[in-house]
Amino acid sequence: MINIIFFGPPGAGKGTQAKIISKFLNLPHLSTGDILRSKIEKKDETAVKVKNIISSGKLVPDTILNQIVLEKIINECQSGFILDGYPRTLDQANFLNKLLDKKNYIINHIFNIDLNYENLEKRILKRSAEENRDDDKANIIKTRYLEYTKTTKKVSDFYRQKNNKIFFDLEGNEEIDQITNKIKEILKKSWNSTIF
Ligand code: AMP
Repeated sequence: MINIIFFGPPGAGKGTQAKIISKFLNLPHLSTGDILRSKIEKKDETAVKVKNIISSGKLVPDTILNQIVLEKIINECQSGFILDGYPRTLDQANFLNKLLDKKNYIINHIFNIDLNYENLEKRILKRSAEENRDDDKANIIKTRYLEYTKTTKKVSDFYRQKNNKIFFDLEGNEEIDQITNKIKEILKKSWNSTIF
């Protein structure tokens, strides 16, 4: 079993790398953003509420996210998982840690991809032309970035401090392939020193 978490501000490329690594390791890619966007299509009361929150750039309540991740990890992740976009708050991190303890699972690697505001704004605006996401607009990007610096960055800082042997900082400004190669090198190094 291999369990990986990707951290980083919106637009840093964590989703792109998580997708590539999920194919490489043949593990489920749990993108909470994608899961929420697919839930919105149901158009029930919760879906409308979630859609409004996402469109505003704010974070969806922890209880909703924790339940989503609980169900996914219990039902779909027997050989491991690639978490992308979760945990984003300390409450989510505590929930995840308790769940992993209970299942006797550990986190094997944490990748934190960073990118400065100027570059991520440019990237997201380019993506908005291709994907037509409600939250890829200039003023909303700012709110999402503030949510990241105010809340989520504290979560990744906490993991870095507690798990510095498995925590890897990566520069999001590099080419996609370059970042992927660095991640693969890190994974391979640990395979050579552990029995998988
Ligand atoms: P993403 O695709 O990861 O950028 O997520 C898009 C949006 O979904 C975020 O701006 C939040 O509104 C919501 N979201 C995704 N993951 C989480 C999470 N773990 N906690 C709270 N909100 C989330």
